[in-house]
Amino acid sequence: MEKVSDYFGCMVFDDCVMRSMLSEEVYHSMKKTIAQGAKLDIGVANAVASAMKDWAVAKGATHYTHWFQPMTGITAEKHDSFITSAPDGRVIMEFSGKELIKGEPDASSFPSGGLRATFEARGYTAWDPTSYAFIKDKTLCIPTAFCSYAGEALDKKTPLLRSMEALNRQALRVLRLFGQNHVKCVRTAVGVEQEYFLIDKKMYQKRKDLMFTGRTLFGAKPPKGQELDDHYFGVIQPRVAAYMQDLNQELWKLGILAKTEHNEVAPAQHELAPIYTTTNIATDHNQLTMEMMQKVADRHGLVCLLHEKPFAGVNGSGKHNNWSISTDTGVNLLSPGETPYENAQFLLFLCAVIKAVDDYQDLLRISVATAGNDLRLGAHEAPPAIVSIFLGDELQAILDALEADVPYNEIKKTTMKLGVDVLPKFPKDTTDRNRTSPFAFTGNKFEFRMVGSADSIACANVMLNSAVAESLKIFADTLEQAQDFETALQELIRKTIREHKRILFQGNGYDAAWIEEATNVRHLCNYRTTPDCIPHMLDKKNVAMLTEHSVYSEIELRSRYEILLENYCKTVMIEANTMVDMSRKEILPAITKYLYAMAKTAKAKQEMDTAIPCSYEKEVIQTLSRLSDEIFAQTKALEQSLLHLPTIPTICAQANTIRDAVLVQMRQLRVACDEAERITAKEFWAFPTYADLLFSV
Ligand code: ADP
Ligand code: MG
Repeated sequence: MEKVSDYFGCMVFDDCVMRSMLSEEVYHSMKKTIAQGAKLDIGVANAVASAMKDWAVAKGATHYTHWFQPMTGITAEKHDSFITSAPDGRVIMEFSGKELIKGEPDASSFPSGGLRATFEARGYTAWDPTSYAFIKDKTLCIPTAFCSYAGEALDKKTPLLRSMEALNRQALRVLRLFGQNHVKCVRTAVGVEQEYFLIDKKMYQKRKDLMFTGRTLFGAKPPKGQELDDHYFGVIQPRVAAYMQDLNQELWKLGILAKTEHNEVAPAQHELAPIYTTTNIATDHNQLTMEMMQKVADRHGLVCLLHEKPFAGVNGSGKHNNWSISTDTGVNLLSPGETPYENAQFLLFLCAVIKAVDDYQDLLRISVATAGNDLRLGAHEAPPAIVSIFLGDELQAILDALEADVPYNEIKKTTMKLGVDVLPKFPKDTTDRNRTSPFAFTGNKFEFRMVGSADSIACANVMLNSAVAESLKIFADTLEQAQDFETALQELIRKTIREHKRILFQGNGYDAAWIEEATNVRHLCNYRTTPDCIPHMLDKKNVAMLTEHSVYSEIELRSRYEILLENYCKTVMIEANTMVDMSRKEILPAITKYLYAMAKTAKAKQEMDTAIPCSYEKEVIQTLSRLSDEIFAQTKALEQSLLHLPTIPTICAQANTIRDAVLVQMRQLRVACDEAERITAKEFWAFPTYADLLFSV
């Protein structure tokens, strides 16, 4: 077999390819654009386009596409071939700088939340040169942003790039105060741990709920679930191992640094993590990874489920967003330093994150809000819907000492003075043993654990970057005015800790006592569902912050508010319709059939000899008859609610009704159906059970 180093990145138009295929002048212009966002002129674009085309055609590509990330949460592409007719009637392969820079897909069917009036259906895609082009399915894919003609963002990439720029601007101001004049650029980097389930395709195809909604809407608890914890880090099944190997190869060809993989807690659950990279690229790579996971699964007769809660009663899937801030000179600003001065800088950036997470906890919650993730957050194995920060005992103790201006006893008997003392070195390991925290410091990065497994990581990082940019801006405003930098710095850090320590929590985030304390004593936000939190996106302070840093315009925010609620409503409505369908066409008929068989048996027994006992048949007939009546009534009630929904005037009211009525009815219907499943003979039940699905591979 080929060596990984021989084919790694072979489908990517990366730095190495550019250096070999572009003239020195063009290459340097490109580099400058990638590193510093400098504008490209059309001459350079033409040269790059031509080289891209030659490279792609040599690799067998016939088409190109502007690859973008509309608000549907998945990626979109519209393929055009390179073919142009030549005067002699034959064809030549062409690709111009203009075609590289800008595309015009018909945008009318992508969600815009009212941004694009129907008469102006056009939007355009614009090349993002900071993310490399790549080949997928014989098509050259060019990562692009997607905007309306008025320039409003219709996608997830544009705000992400803007938020990275906002953080860059403010972080540079702060670094200048520390005399770091040589730093040209500050970027955030992300490594995403992606969880997923793998099940057998034949089983999947017998379950309408999985096919239409990505999760099971029915299913009695199997005799064995995850009780024994025997799956976590367990031996990987040969079939799964073959899948992972194949997947790794596909990802490596695309230059994605897939690195670790292991079994997760639930049966059939696994995880894949790449090596971290610049946030924008990590986001593109995560989208590609999710796509490849599903494609490769299909080749192995498997289905990859990315839904946050495919199965009730076993762990759901999330995506851990490991996030750090670094300079172009290679310094991780969230890493405690070697010198007192570096440590003061570290503490200031740490405080910026603490303040950001406290001030904008609502935005972080909103950034992970989907109907699917609502089923996971707050369940006992996932972080609660309340945002809090875990720092680890040692760092927490240091902050406590700084705030109180008292000695930090464990390490030193003297009061810590910034700029004088070196922080004690704390081993990375001791900081990451709290798996219940939604936002944990893990040595030199923060791990945001609330992101849903199916979601793009863009939104979470947009909010995180923007909120931290805002803290840094406030810090820079204060410190730039200071007479005595060190005293002002010390005071600022102390003040920040004092004002925001309520967000710091070292205990068990799954504990009911924490929910109580967080909500009633610390007054942290506890938005349990999507309709609870989304309206807060338009709170004055949030709009002010996001527009101030030019991450979103107010119009864009309003459109996103609409789209997010619309997605929520549509998702649940599809689920409810699927339930009605399965109930009427599969579950009720299955029960009736079994009832008939039982009744026939009972009757035959009685005819033979009335003395033959038949309490088993009678009880099953009793119970199933009651349940089928219940199921029938509940199905009709759900149908009624679904008919009523379109008459509700606003999307917000619709979402609230779904939360308070439709989802409640769905849960009730499920309880009755699951009970019926438990007492119906296996051969009569309409579709594969949890045991079939979870232990199918
Ligand atoms: P775990 O949480 O399982 O202990 P690791 O420490 O191996 O995992 O890291 C998980 C993810 O964090 C990986 O994708 C890794 O590349 C990423 N990561 C590591 N260091 C950083 C960093 N400085 N910034 C951002 N991500 C990082
Ligand atoms: Mg982790």
